[in-house]
Amino acid sequence: LVDINSPYPAPLHATESPWRVEFGDTARYLKVGDVIMCHVLSVDEIKRVQLTMQEREARRLNGGMVIEISPTKVPRVIGKQGSMVSLIMDLTGCRIYVGQNGRIWLDGDDRSAAVAAMAIRLIEERAQAVGLTETVRERIEWGGNKVLAAVYGPREAHPRHLQDPARALVQCRYNMAPFSVSDRKRPGPDRRSVEISKVISEAFASVVFVEQFPRTSVDIFIEVLQADAGTRCAGLTAASVALADAGIPMRDLVTSCASGKIGGVVALDLNKDEDNFGDADCPMAIVPRTGEIVLLQMDGHLTADEFDRAMGLSIGAAKKINEIQRDALRRRYESVAEQARLEAPPPPPPSEAPPPP
Ligand code: ADP
Repeated sequence: LVDINSPYPAPLHATESPWRVEFGDTARYLKVGDVIMCHVLSVDEIKRVQLTMQEREARRLNGGMVIEISPTKVPRVIGKQGSMVSLIMDLTGCRIYVGQNGRIWLDGDDRSAAVAAMAIRLIEERAQAVGLTETVRERIEWGGNKVLAAVYGPREAHPRHLQDPARALVQCRYNMAPFSVSDRKRPGPDRRSVEISKVISEAFASVVFVEQFPRTSVDIFIEVLQADAGTRCAGLTAASVALADAGIPMRDLVTSCASGKIGGVVALDLNKDEDNFGDADCPMAIVPRTGEIVLLQMDGHLTADEFDRAMGLSIGAAKKINEIQRDALRRRYESVAEQARLEAPPPPPPSEAPPPP
């Protein structure tokens, strides 16, 4: 008997299994507590259910975990032609099967499975929301880094003596929360955050049309909630989208990525241990349309050849990240347009013909 999340018993006959099961030998193939993927073959008028495992994809699922959602939310989790579940699989690297009965099997390492489960819960909670795909994407795409970016302005620059009569100031404040790293960080600015704020401000000052807003300031706030190396790149990339979203005129988005060297190997996007114990870390930011480099730093040593290879990796990655940035903006405006359409007042009833004179 298989528990299919239904009030009626669901037997799986030995003949409908994919194995040649001898009488009394079922336990060799399936034990109590095993998870299987099967199809409902038939349900008759007295609710007798027949299951089969003879169809394509049916199998015993080893390892992994099962989460349960309301069966009515299943189509939303699957998405149009499987788009939502494919997105979650691509972003987390998990294998996922969504059963029509609301049971979902996920397999991946602990962290990815937890992220995938969280994404599915989010979809379940917000099944009716507009722009859902975007919410999910935003929540999971940061990986080990979680960064918030906000933009204010152009607004009058304070203190006044900082105002530039010819152009706007671009001021960034990068801050890492005390709880963002495993050993609590002292709150407040330090040399590192002052340096990062400065290089990010300069990167944006070269793309924003500052001459259009004299005496003002465009303020960018980057708050790191969880840090796993490369936070200045993640912050810059997020802030760039926030600037565009705030309607600040810019020559192009800025896209950032780091590469470096670990144990003599040139690699892209180091994580915290690779960064802290590696040989070199080289964050960069480019203006994708022109290829102009607006931020370039290096910690450690790279030979000229290694530097070229590292830059090659970063530029390749930046192009892909730029696509994701543009896509995020596009989707945001699609969902705004959809929301406006839903909230628009109904069209007035057709006016009646004017009374005859
Ligand atoms: P980025 O985050 O841009 O790579 P760094 O190379 O300076 O900047 O930092 C690498 C990582 O080291 C950070 O993302 C963070 O995980 C960790 N780190 C930085 N400063 C601290 C700190 N004060 N305490 C604990 N961990 C830190």
